[in-house]
Amino acid sequence: MKKTLIVVDMQNDFIDMALGTPEAVKIVPNVKKKIEEYKKNGDEVIFTRDTHHDDYLSTPEGIKLPVVHCIEGSKGWQISDELDTEGAKIINKPNFGWPNWKDGKFEEIELVGLCTDICVVSNALILKAQFPDIKISVDSSCCAGVTPASHEAALTTMKMCQIDVY
Ligand SMILES: [Zn+2]
Repeated sequence: MKKTLIVVDMQNDFIDMALGTPEAVKIVPNVKKKIEEYKKNGDEVIFTRDTHHDDYLSTPEGIKLPVVHCIEGSKGWQISDELDTEGAKIINKPNFGWPNWKDGKFEEIELVGLCTDICVVSNALILKAQFPDIKISVDSSCCAGVTPASHEAALTTMKMCQIDVY
């Protein structure tokens, strides 16, 4: 059984820069370990990167969240140096959810990363809709939300939608 780990938006801006939180900082070692496990087993690892440009503040997302972040090429946009991206596929996604997962071949998917309540839940539900017959799971010890309360709320939503939350 082929397993795929999707590491969502583990970028400096979401960890300890523009939109960072103490909870996000805390999960970095767990995510690092998770990636190592997948690599050791020869399983697939895919990273996503939230990617904006200089016009961010005038985009629909920027109007609702006027905090400049993840500008392509900036330090905040980079995936944390703690995480091993070598050999992994990296997807630059302009919005919360990536609509093109459907073009991939998956047998089992696990999601980790940031933020539980925005991009993790968005992608988990897109994947659930596009691949209703495969196991999709989320490791909550490798996720953090904008707040601890909205992290918990998103985990509940995903559980209700039959995503396995550990
Ligand atoms: Zn963004």
